[in-house]
Amino acid sequence: MAKPGYRVFDTQVAQITRMSPHFVRVTFRSDDLRELGWDGPDQRIKVVLPLASSGYDHVPFEGDWYSAWRALPDERRNPIRTYTIREARPAAGELDVDFVAHGDSGPASRWIGTAKPGDRLLVIAPDATSEEESGGWEWRPGAAGTLLIAGDETAVPAVGAILEQLPDDSRGAVFLEVPEAADALELRGPSGVAVHWLARDAAAHGHDGEPGYGARLVEAVTAWADAWVAADPAAAAVPAAAPATARELPALDDDDLVWEAPAAADDGGVYAWLAGEATAITTLRRHLVKGLGVDRRRVAFMGYWKLGRAEG
Ligand SMILES: Cc1cc2nc3c(=O)[nH]c(=O)nc-3n(C[C@H](O)[C@H](O)[C@H](O)COP(=O)(O)OP(=O)(O)OC[C@H]3O[C@@H](n4cnc5c(N)ncnc54)[C@H](O)[C@@H]3O)c2cc1C
Repeated sequence: MAKPGYRVFDTQVAQITRMSPHFVRVTFRSDDLRELGWDGPDQRIKVVLPLASSGYDHVPFEGDWYSAWRALPDERRNPIRTYTIREARPAAGELDVDFVAHGDSGPASRWIGTAKPGDRLLVIAPDATSEEESGGWEWRPGAAGTLLIAGDETAVPAVGAILEQLPDDSRGAVFLEVPEAADALELRGPSGVAVHWLARDAAAHGHDGEPGYGARLVEAVTAWADAWVAADPAAAAVPAAAPATARELPALDDDDLVWEAPAAADDGGVYAWLAGEATAITTLRRHLVKGLGVDRRRVAFMGYWKLGRAEG
């Protein structure tokens, strides 16, 4: 049987850097990480969080660990959450992950509140020694002429990595909504791709005590897209040669589906990559595809989390 593209890596926290009020970078280090793979800039990984009572005593490491993990009773099943490789340095056995600290409501955010150097963390990530592709990445812009990248704080690590590997002559716009102005990080990217930071403004957009997730993102991206499609409608149209899709595209009206990641056409048109809170991302995608007629094969959209719902 072929070696799976992913495996469990045993790591230790080497360094914790508070980058801004809500971003915490954790550098993990271990010999195991020398075999870490990194297939695409928005490469997702899973962190397996320790249980307060029993740490990792019940994690099924061998064989079909996922089925075995699912079959465990709640109190013995370690929470698993999805994150992004911000940077990997396999030669040094190092991995950086940028965690959003959003309080005590979830096990991952709680973990980041107390983590310290030396702590152990299990990470499920691509295995560089496997010939199988990990499949856990979606950035496939082809030869797009214009890039539209939009996300909230959970997408900032992926966008940071995407920007760093873009060709120098790339053109487009990036919109990133973050909790507050001080969460705007330094990102390196081509000069033709303007980065717009949007600080969430709870007073203006919030209701029912919620800080108005996605409101500023939707507003800014909608305004940009309206102007852009009006100026260049051809770039949004159905590609002349329909691109191969990364996945079979399901029915457009399935509102529960917040993940579709086609590979863009190589025709110089637009490629949009949208990731963040599911409702906001769905609204944006709907506006682009249904409102403005952007061909859906040009729009990758990924619900990274959903307000009021724990992952898993
Ligand atoms: C492909 C992918 C890549 C991701 N990459 C990153 C990454 O690099 N960094 C990162 O920080 N996150 C990332 N996320 C998002 C992360 O998986 C979720 O935020 C996850 O829910 C956090 O787990 P938790 O245990 O803290 O909260 P959960 O137990 O999952 O949720 C508990 C509660 O917290 C709320 N919640 C979850 N996330 C947030 C948030 N960010 N802000 C406010 N409320 C929230 C939920 O709605 C729920 O009510 C990624 C998600 C995906 C799918």
